[in-house]
Amino acid sequence: MSHAPGPEEEAERKMRFLYTLRSKGVTDARVLSAMEKVDRGAFVKGLFAERAYEDMPLPIACGQTISQPSVVGLMTLALEVSARDKVLEVGTGSGYQAAILSHLARRIYTVDRHRRLVREADALFRALNLTNITAIAADGSHGLPDQAPFDRIIVTAAAEDPPGPLLAQLRIGGIMVLPVGQSDTVQSLIKVRRTAEGYEYEELRPVRFVPLVEGLGQD
Ligand code: SAH
Repeated sequence: MSHAPGPEEEAERKMRFLYTLRSKGVTDARVLSAMEKVDRGAFVKGLFAERAYEDMPLPIACGQTISQPSVVGLMTLALEVSARDKVLEVGTGSGYQAAILSHLARRIYTVDRHRRLVREADALFRALNLTNITAIAADGSHGLPDQAPFDRIIVTAAAEDPPGPLLAQLRIGGIMVLPVGQSDTVQSLIKVRRTAEGYEYEELRPVRFVPLVEGLGQD
């Protein structure tokens, strides 16, 4: 058990965290301010809690991972979220990414195939009073037809190709950000814009995510 940090230590930790984000290209003031509001330490439990403020992915329950903060920042930046947007996140995991989006968008739907992760993230959203997030246990590769279309879609697990239902559930003018590629290799972070004519694809950077798996998980 580590000691509880005092206010000075906490302020310094936060400054270092934000400095690292900036130095890795997360330079947008709105995104940084949203990330400043969400304490990553609340989303990492157990053994790895002490490393919550380091810029690295960390293990969470169900064999999954909470993404690296700078990657969360760059994906949030690429999503170009505005305050009117309805957003779908596929891959709730710890709930960290959804919590950041909740400060930037009107409404967040987040789905995960593991009920336990959804339950735990939902409890955190309530505790943090993030009332514009709805967390649902579902196979997100089918999207969320009842709530479609979405202004923005973010996928935090890697598929080999952008799932057709997600492309279809993106509003015209909408943006989707997702990692694409095989799970055991380096993947590409892709930005998709839906226009009246079709879809435009932009490759952003190499990333590494857990795979998008079909069907609900065991727990
Ligand atoms: N965004 C998360 C990190 C997600 S890790 C965070 O901020 O902590 C990727 C998550 O995608 C895992 O929790 C995994 O269970 C989930 N996942 C994988 N395939 C899925 C699918 N088909 N539908 C919904 N969630 C899926």
